[in-house]
Amino acid sequence: MKDALVFRRVRVVDPAGPVDDVVDVVVERDRVVRVGRGAGDGYAASDRVAVIEREGAWLLPGFVDIHAHLREPGGEGKEDVASGLRAAAAGGFVDVCCMPNTLPVNDSRGVTEMLVAKARALQTVRLHPIAAITVGQRGEQLTEMADLQAAGAVAVSDDGRCVTNSQVMRRALEYASTFDLPVIQHAEDHALTDGAQMHEGAISTRLGLRGWPRVAEDVIVARDLLLAEYVGARYHVAHVSTAGAVRLIRDAKARGIPVTAEVTPHHLLLTHEALLGYDTACKVNPPLREPEDVEALRRALADGTIDCIATDHAPHGVLDKQVELSASSPGMIGLELCLPLLLGLVREGALPLSRLVDALTGAPSKVVGLERPRIREGARADVVLVDPLDRYTIDAARLKTKSRNTPFDGAHVQGRVMLTVCEGRVVAGEA
Ligand SMILES: [Zn+2]
Repeated sequence: MKDALVFRRVRVVDPAGPVDDVVDVVVERDRVVRVGRGAGDGYAASDRVAVIEREGAWLLPGFVDIHAHLREPGGEGKEDVASGLRAAAAGGFVDVCCMPNTLPVNDSRGVTEMLVAKARALQTVRLHPIAAITVGQRGEQLTEMADLQAAGAVAVSDDGRCVTNSQVMRRALEYASTFDLPVIQHAEDHALTDGAQMHEGAISTRLGLRGWPRVAEDVIVARDLLLAEYVGARYHVAHVSTAGAVRLIRDAKARGIPVTAEVTPHHLLLTHEALLGYDTACKVNPPLREPEDVEALRRALADGTIDCIATDHAPHGVLDKQVELSASSPGMIGLELCLPLLLGLVREGALPLSRLVDALTGAPSKVVGLERPRIREGARADVVLVDPLDRYTIDAARLKTKSRNTPFDGAHVQGRVMLTVCEGRVVAGEA
């Protein structure tokens, strides 16, 4: 480890400042110690000091992902804590929250503590478990949330399953709010999606596949917003995918209901037409929707109705994906592709860069109560160096994740994470 990292003439974009300026940034040990023009003068490269200068590079606060599946325990063939955090670091993330739908489910102090201990021993980016809302994610009995929080859980969710029982959801919101734990809902009325393979619409009809209608998401979001308002609790909607859910969240925020929401890169970039070739890499839950939904999601992200971006990184092996669509598991990998894919929206003018950065840093850290990564003197040194001009083709075989399930293999993108620094340590790239 170097004693100092000196970034010369980088464009710092930190919406918390707000700052958008070309300056030098000096990191010593685990802190940002100097920010400003010429702040790096007087530092010479040595075996103890790295001086990093790259034409046109950006320096951003480290990213925060509040929705990833790292598959440990039980699914280590697809991903484990070590490979998942390597992928996260390569993607520019310094904080990763992992969902509890593992084998066994993370509904106990033991699993939460195991995850925290494994991640800590790796000395890389930070891992924050999300524990289950209900025992075994069966939607019946609430977990011991106080215990789980004490062990390191930052939120509760039954992700992969929806808490459909209104009484259980009411109790979960009430109970979690006493510890200020956010409740993250996977909004899907399972009675409406039984056997569904993709979004219910013209394409599902043409392909003869059972559809997952938008209303299955909307009815749950609507009910949960009523419950959150009634009990006065914080509520977070995972992977919003429909124009209807966006409208409900917008109205709820206008009325002062404490709701937050996330959207995935794939729901911002792809539609149900991606399923025309029965590509299992495009089978996700909730499913890819229609252009009007994508448009609504983009606008909601840009105006802040949707607070943050979450990858829903969902690694799967060939046994889960190289099969017919109906037999394949939903999900795609996302940690390493998030930034390069979404920079396309910035170049198109669909998303201001400062909003993208906020949606990857400040907004998600606020949802789960983590310290916000910032670039200013005295801040913890959690930064990402990005080359926004680098053009390349995504090669899934070269990613750090153990899995390869992405429809973006071979996609042409522009913008690369060059270096990720977490608490002053270089955790991806080379200084
Ligand atoms: Zn989910």
